[in-house]
Amino acid sequence: MLHLSTYVQFPVLYFKVGYQPKLRHFYTMLVATQLLKKYSNLTVVNEVSLHVAKSEIVSIVGPSGAGKSTLLHLLGALDKPDSGTVTIDGVNVFALPSKKQARFRNKHIGFVFQFHHLLPEFSAVENVAVPLWIAGAGKKEALQQAVEMLHTVGLGGRLENKPSEMSGGEQQRVAIARALINKPSIVMADEPTGNLDSANAQAIHELFLQLRDRFGHTFIMITHNEALANMTDRVMMMRDGRIEQEKVLKAVDNIKY
Ligand code: ADP
Repeated sequence: MLHLSTYVQFPVLYFKVGYQPKLRHFYTMLVATQLLKKYSNLTVVNEVSLHVAKSEIVSIVGPSGAGKSTLLHLLGALDKPDSGTVTIDGVNVFALPSKKQARFRNKHIGFVFQFHHLLPEFSAVENVAVPLWIAGAGKKEALQQAVEMLHTVGLGGRLENKPSEMSGGEQQRVAIARALINKPSIVMADEPTGNLDSANAQAIHELFLQLRDRFGHTFIMITHNEALANMTDRVMMMRDGRIEQEKVLKAVDNIKY
């Protein structure tokens, strides 16, 4: 039996050897089980199961037609699987009734696409504020948060510019700011740099890493660019509707956040 003094001495001992309590908690942000999606008799996503940890950046690579976009749409609840489940931050997304599912998606999932779909008549700051307005925030508060978010993505000097007055890389930063404004649990990006030159593409990937390091965001992204995929923590290779191989570049325990 341990003597009372053992308990008393432990904190002192830890203090002396410089013990630091481990404050980081890793948990699974997304779990997909046996996702199946068919278009008539073509099986596009074939019983895919995967998990993504909080603050992890996962890339999906593979040939055109492998089913990457369809899988991402299922993971982001933009499309329904024929069978299988997606759980995000503990919520079984497809078990929610449709209105709640849409609300969950708006609040918890951010999307970035190759073509950013910014509203051409709106300034950068207004584009970023739109999801907050949809979620019911007041105009002034939404604009204030949008300004902060644009500073975070390095566009503090372009707040009032319209999309047509910005470069492709800048427009994509606006789209990323818009995806993050509701503080989503996870961000899904479908070829976010597919339309950019290599310097801008590299800069956007670096931005994802910075956002993760500063705020702990979780990302799943599709990319055709192997060098950019290799900047992420884990690369999943997809072919014929299945994850064929997986390459871990940074173990979850080593993600500094
Ligand atoms: P990837 O993103 O890897 O290029 P996709 O997920 O876009 O692959 O497409 C995978 C396959 O599913 C392709 O053969 C494509 O033609 C087919 N597909 C995708 N969406 C639809 C749809 N809405 N209706 C019918 N077939 C589709």
